[in-house]
Amino acid sequence: MSMTDERLLTVQDLHIYYPISKRNGNKEYVKAVDGVTFSVKNGEVFGIVGESGCGKSTLGRGLCKLETPTSGTIVLDGEDISAYETKKMRPIRKKVQMVFQDPYASLDPRMSVFDIIAEPLVIHKLSKDKKDLADKVVALLRKVGLEDYHANRYPHEFSGGQRQRIGIARALAVEPKLIIADEPVSALDVSIQAQILNLMTHLQKELGLTYLFIAHDLSVVEHISTKVGVMYLGNFVELASKEKLYKNPLHPYTQALLSSVPIPDPTIKRDRIILEGSIPSAVDPPQGCKFHTRCPKCMEVCRKIVPRCYYADEDHYVYCHLYDDMPNSKTGKTVGNGGEQA
Ligand code: SF4
Repeated sequence: MSMTDERLLTVQDLHIYYPISKRNGNKEYVKAVDGVTFSVKNGEVFGIVGESGCGKSTLGRGLCKLETPTSGTIVLDGEDISAYETKKMRPIRKKVQMVFQDPYASLDPRMSVFDIIAEPLVIHKLSKDKKDLADKVVALLRKVGLEDYHANRYPHEFSGGQRQRIGIARALAVEPKLIIADEPVSALDVSIQAQILNLMTHLQKELGLTYLFIAHDLSVVEHISTKVGVMYLGNFVELASKEKLYKNPLHPYTQALLSSVPIPDPTIKRDRIILEGSIPSAVDPPQGCKFHTRCPKCMEVCRKIVPRCYYADEDHYVYCHLYDDMPNSKTGKTVGNGGEQA
């Protein structure tokens, strides 16, 4: 199926804050997702990368309403689901499914593989009778590279890669439009990672799926994505097509992340940029550019003023004062972080 221009998911100025203890009478919040705006077209694979603690997993869970958004808008397949409660989300779960990081924890050990894959088909009443249900489960097992007899086994009898295949089969059962994969290969050995990524790429093309693919590893995201967003402390710092982001990273944070990715061609040399310090607290993030405390190119303005979204090229946006002479992104397109930033 080819990619169309139609937007499957549009997220506007999404905030996900968690209240924590009060200090000096004021309530404090962990600002896990701090005003994020982006859209994903049908058939696109949008990779979201960033260090652990940058809010990417919370964002993924928030989009399926496994976390409650504090404010902002989520429109999925033309339907504004931002305020939907659990009951109203039930039919929506047929459209959006998650594949989780830990295939060991995400499968119920007391259920057979048959029951695990059949469960969503039963919940959403997607089979005519018992035979139809069995046929569908077997077809899903085959689709993810497992054997028919695996249906009668239990999760502990499988390797990590096989368990992730079971998780993918379960997600595919309801024929979702969007799959949110949260670090789906990071718990697996490198050789198995490639197999699962190849499977996901194959399924995406065969079934015309749309993925939101969350990972901390830029080489994993490069393998599978068509578009990439780099997150830092609850916001995007750069968004671009995969080719543009990897060939011409503009944001100092993206440059630092990419400098640590090994290049297979020994003739290409890239200086490693070591970032000082760790990601600051999401309770009290730095003023101005949130990255200024670690940025090797920090300027005076960065400590005070939040950078706007700058339009570097078609489908390439960056939030950084180094590009203050570029046109400000007022293109009307849905990009980057929400709201006025300065
Ligand atoms: Fe670095 Fe300043 Fe750009 Fe932030 S705005 S990434 S501190 S140069």
